[in-house]
Amino acid sequence: MQNYDIAIIGGGAAGLACAVRLKELDKNLSVVVIEKGERAGRKIAASGNGQGNVSNVDLGAEHYHGSGAYLAEKLCSSRLYNPLEMFDFLFASDRLGRIYPAGKQGSALSDCLLRKVEKLGIELKLSTAATALEKGFTLILSDGGKLQANRVVLAAGGKAQKQFGTDGGAYALARSLGHTVTPLYPSLVQLKCDTRHIKTLKGIRTECRVTALDKDGKVLGTSTGDVIFTDYGVSGNAVFYISSCCAGVENVTLSLEFLTDIPQERIAADVESKLAKGYPQSELLCGTLHNQIGRAVIRRCDSSDPRTIARTVKNFTLAVEGSLGFDYAQVTKGGVPASEVDDRLQSKIVPDLYFAGEVLDVDGDCGGYNLTWALVSGMHAAKSVVNSFNTDD
Ligand SMILES: Cc1cc2nc3c(=O)[nH]c(=O)nc-3n(C[C@H](O)[C@H](O)[C@H](O)COP(=O)(O)OP(=O)(O)OC[C@H]3O[C@@H](n4cnc5c(N)ncnc54)[C@H](O)[C@@H]3O)c2cc1C
Repeated sequence: MQNYDIAIIGGGAAGLACAVRLKELDKNLSVVVIEKGERAGRKIAASGNGQGNVSNVDLGAEHYHGSGAYLAEKLCSSRLYNPLEMFDFLFASDRLGRIYPAGKQGSALSDCLLRKVEKLGIELKLSTAATALEKGFTLILSDGGKLQANRVVLAAGGKAQKQFGTDGGAYALARSLGHTVTPLYPSLVQLKCDTRHIKTLKGIRTECRVTALDKDGKVLGTSTGDVIFTDYGVSGNAVFYISSCCAGVENVTLSLEFLTDIPQERIAADVESKLAKGYPQSELLCGTLHNQIGRAVIRRCDSSDPRTIARTVKNFTLAVEGSLGFDYAQVTKGGVPASEVDDRLQSKIVPDLYFAGEVLDVDGDCGGYNLTWALVSGMHAAKSVVNSFNTDD
C-alpha cells in the first residue's frame, strides 16, 4: 500500500490551494490529492458566471456566517493570507468590489492551480473517490485501492450542486470519524415565493432593495441589487445575498422597495398629478416604474389612492415558500462545527485530521467570499500540517 505524508480528499479550491502551499513550504513532503471528478477545480472555473469572482475588496467579518465565522475573520478579514497569492496573473475589481482575474475567465484560476500541482510533483488521482477513512490513516478508494497517509486534509466541499461532485459525501466521512454536522441549508440560491402578485412579471429584471423579515417583522437582512421575477419566485444578485439570512427560517417575507432613490412623497405626488390628468388607474405609475411592475403594484393596492400606491412601491411584499434547493445553491450553510476544530483547523476529535473549505460550518456572502474562504483555509491547513511535522521532529 502506498504511503504519503499527506492525503487531501477533494480537488476543489481548498484542496488544491492546500496541496500547492504544502509543497511550496516543504518540497520534500509527499502529497496526494484524491478527486472523484474527472477534472479538479470545476467549481472554481464555474464561479462568478464563469468569470472567476475569487475574492472581494471588502473582506469584512460581517460577510461570513456560521459557527466558524470567527475563523474566517481571523484568516480572511484580517488578511493573514492573501488568496490572490496563489495565482500568477493580474486581477481587477468591479464597482461592487468583486475581484476577478483581469482576463475575466474563471478557468484561468483552476488552470493556474493545476499547473502548479503538476510542476510541484503533487500526485492527483482523478475519477477516484475516498469512500472510507479509517483512523491512522487508511483511505479506501472507489477504484478498490487503498492508501495510507500520516495526515489527512478533508476538503471535499459541501452539498451544493452535486454535478460538481459535492453530494454531501464529505460529511459522511467526517461523521464516520466521530464528527458531527450542523443542520445543512442551501444558500446563495433563488427563492420560491407566492407568485400570485408577480405572475405577469416573469423575466423582468429590476433594481431594488430587498429586506427579509421573519414572522414577527424582525429584519433578517437587507440587500440592494438586481431582482429577476421568475415563474417560481425571484432570482438575481439581491435575492442571492438575502437567501443567506432566510436559510432555516420559517415564514419569511420579502419586502421589495422599488425606486429606492425617490422619496415616497414624490411618488405619491406623481400619482396624484397623473390622476388629475385623467390617467386610468392601471397607468398611474407608467413611466415612473417599469410599466408591468407599476401595474402589478396597482393591482395589489386595488386603489387609486396616491399614498397607498406610493407605500406599496416602497413595500411590495412576497411570502417566501422555500428555495430552489441544493441543486441550485452556490454554497452550503452549515457543516462540521467550528467547535470541533482548533485554530489550526485540526480536528479536536481525531489528531492529524485537518479540514478546509466548505465542509466546515462557514459560509460567506455572494461576491467572492466563499472562494476566499476555501483558498485561505486550504493555505492555513497546509501551514498547520507543515508545522505539525516540524513539531514531531
Ligand atoms: C455555480 C457556482 C458558482 C459559484 N460562484 C462563486 C463566486 O463567484 N465566488 C465565490 O466566492 N464562490 C462561488 N461559489 C462557491 C465556491 O465555488 C465554493 O464555496 C468553493 O469552491 C468551495 O471550495 P471547496 O474546495 O471547499 O469545495 P469544492 O470546490 O466543492 O471541492 C470539493 C471537491 O471534493 C470532491 N469530492 C467530494 N467528495 C469526495 C470524495 N469522497 N472523494 C474525493 N473527492 C471528493 C468534489 O468532486 C469536489 O471537486 C460558486 C459555487 C457554484 C456551485
